[in-house]
Amino acid sequence: MRKGKLYFRYGTMGSAKTAILLATAYNFEERNLSFLCLKPIVDTREATSVIRSRIGIERPCEWIYADTNVYELAQEKHEALGGIIDWYLVDEAQFLTEAQVDQFARIVDDFGSNVICYGLRTDFQSHLFEGSRRLFELADTIDEIKSTCNCGHKTIINARIDANGDFVSKGAQVEIGGDERYVAVCRKCWRNKRIEQAQRQSLFK
Ligand SMILES: [Zn+2]
Repeated sequence: MRKGKLYFRYGTMGSAKTAILLATAYNFEERNLSFLCLKPIVDTREATSVIRSRIGIERPCEWIYADTNVYELAQEKHEALGGIIDWYLVDEAQFLTEAQVDQFARIVDDFGSNVICYGLRTDFQSHLFEGSRRLFELADTIDEIKSTCNCGHKTIINARIDANGDFVSKGAQVEIGGDERYVAVCRKCWRNKRIEQAQRQSLFK
């Protein structure tokens, strides 16, 4: 019986998670390994199903909708292929539901496939996403993809910023169709900037 693993590779925004996923897919292609790229779709107005990295490379993928059963999806793929897909590469895994992470774990355990999930650890308020929490609970292997804050420390927080560059403290975890922007910072810079913002706002009251 083949034996797969469930991997969670997490990092902040801008830590090149997607670029690493795409490089991994390229490598699998070179070695003729069977693999499938997938991504939860958050904004259903997105026209094309691709995984796109900021460095300018992209590759087609399958959408995972909120109600997609990924275990059944894998069964269908394996039947169509007449064999097992060796590697599943999942981008934006923080947006998976808890049930979908459980289904990926079953894909690993029942079929012996490997599933690598790439995603964020926490949201702009520093709290775990549903998919990330379940991955921390179930994954065989957990790796951090590190990146560096302007001050030199490791980034921890994905801060949401407004038009003035100030950190936003309230709002929905996921803003669909919004043009909100994010900057990854270390925990200390996150705290210091919020203190500085609060002082500035009280000055102008
Ligand atoms: Zn910092």
